[in-house]
Amino acid sequence: MAKTILHLGSNIGLRNFNLRRAQRLLEKRLGKATKVSSCYETAAWGVEDQRDFLNMAFCFKTKLSPDQVLDVAQRVESKMGRLRLQKWGERIIDVDIIFYGDEVVNTDRLQLPHPWMQDRRFVLVPVAEIAAKWRHPVLGAKVKKLLRNCTDTGHVQRVSGKLR
Ligand code: ATP
Ligand code: CA
Ligand code: CA
Repeated sequence: MAKTILHLGSNIGLRNFNLRRAQRLLEKRLGKATKVSSCYETAAWGVEDQRDFLNMAFCFKTKLSPDQVLDVAQRVESKMGRLRLQKWGERIIDVDIIFYGDEVVNTDRLQLPHPWMQDRRFVLVPVAEIAAKWRHPVLGAKVKKLLRNCTDTGHVQRVSGKLR
């Protein structure tokens, strides 16, 4: 079994509802999350002229391969109506694999660890909440250190669980 971390984001519609629905659909296929972060409201990154995101991360153990986890993630995105209109544009749901054990993967379809995670506060903050001591297999630093060293200044604010 490999320990894996997924990061979810939504900035269309009832964002919190979308995150919970995605979590439920993913858990149905991957098994129950062992740790779940809070939800965070975060400034859009890359394309900034769009609604704030809600983000969260969760951890689970799986027998599936990294490619199979990506298949599941993409099926859940499709089921929820994810459209790809603009790179880094608005989306009902985004499911990224951040870590899969200490695997390093560099194919066209899948890169692990997620190649931008160390540059994104909106990823590091929820991931640090559930896996501060996870060591990045390429950079060699723990998540809490990556967060301390991250120069991204985008706002990341913890929010309560109500629908929004
Ligand atoms: P970013 O990857 O910068 O966060 P994005 O999430 O908006 O941007 P998508 O359109 O959701 O990008 O995904 C583009 C492609 O990224 C997917 O088709 C998938 O094959 C690939 N990909 C590579 N590595 C990963 C990963 N670790 N997790 C999820 N998708 C990945
Ligand atoms: Ca993403
Ligand atoms: Ca993605």
